[in-house]
Amino acid sequence: MTEPTAAPLSAPLEISFDYTRSLGPVLGQFMTGLAQRTILGSRSADGRVYVPPAEYDPVTFSPPADLVPVGPAGTVLTWSWEPEPREGQPLGRPFAWALIRLDGADTAMLHAVDAGSATRMSTGMRVQPRWAASPAGHITDIECFEPAGAEPAGAEPAGSRASRQAAPRQDAVVPGPENDAVTMITTPVRLHYQHSASAEESRYLRALREGKLIGQRCPACGKVYIPPRGACPVDGVPTTTDVELPDVGTVTTFCVVNVPFQGQRIPSPYVAAQILLDGADIAFQHLVLGCEPDEVRMGMRVRAVWKPPDEWGTTSENISHFEPAGEPDAPYDSYARHL
Ligand SMILES: [Zn+2]
Repeated sequence: MTEPTAAPLSAPLEISFDYTRSLGPVLGQFMTGLAQRTILGSRSADGRVYVPPAEYDPVTFSPPADLVPVGPAGTVLTWSWEPEPREGQPLGRPFAWALIRLDGADTAMLHAVDAGSATRMSTGMRVQPRWAASPAGHITDIECFEPAGAEPAGAEPAGSRASRQAAPRQDAVVPGPENDAVTMITTPVRLHYQHSASAEESRYLRALREGKLIGQRCPACGKVYIPPRGACPVDGVPTTTDVELPDVGTVTTFCVVNVPFQGQRIPSPYVAAQILLDGADIAFQHLVLGCEPDEVRMGMRVRAVWKPPDEWGTTSENISHFEPAGEPDAPYDSYARHL
């Protein structure tokens, strides 16, 4: 069963979710302004104007006195060239990160400048925002900045430049909450990484691909861990003996999932349970389907429902769920120490 020379498995993994939150009165007005192609700064008690607006006066800690339009043009105070943009950065071609002080502001904001080449960048140069084709009340409504009065380096649809020049200026009306106020913001969060399994985990995953469940036994205390950790957490010694376990076990504890969430694949309510396979000394979590949620109970005997082999696209999801095994409940003492 062991594959001592097999290389550890490695695969890309991605975790992502949409982070949604309310903006509050200051940032709400700022985003509402962006939707109308207006950039707002906050004026503090000492008259300084902060861009992006500060939710609290940095000096007095009071709410800002008022919000005022700034720019939209500004001056580059300092910059740094980005020769190899990475995924998720503002532009897909080389650009400059710059601290830009918009006209009428006392602070600088960090943004990208699409200048085409580093030789066109200089401290003190004048820049103007390039607006998204359809501003939506998000910070990305400012796609980037570009040299003032110059044609942008990238192609853009005919007509969009005219609309940019018609963007609101200093005399713009400060948008209020009555003008389609933006009150919420959704920010996608994504973490993409390469996960490499340990040698023990890799053997477990390869066996799963063959329809087998492989744990490992501690040579000191004799406990069987599945999935194998590579070492016994009690004795701190390597676990080296593979143990094949049946796909039948006992529900130790469980919860009924009643709360719907984004990306949910099974309609609620359904049961997520801790399942102790026969012969194992540690339970793992899996779904219990195939019966009403209120029929699931501690001590219930369940068996794995394997996906059809032609659906085994990944090695980690070959068991669809567990279902009632139709056996008498396990006695409490058989799983009490796992609660
Ligand atoms: Zn041990």
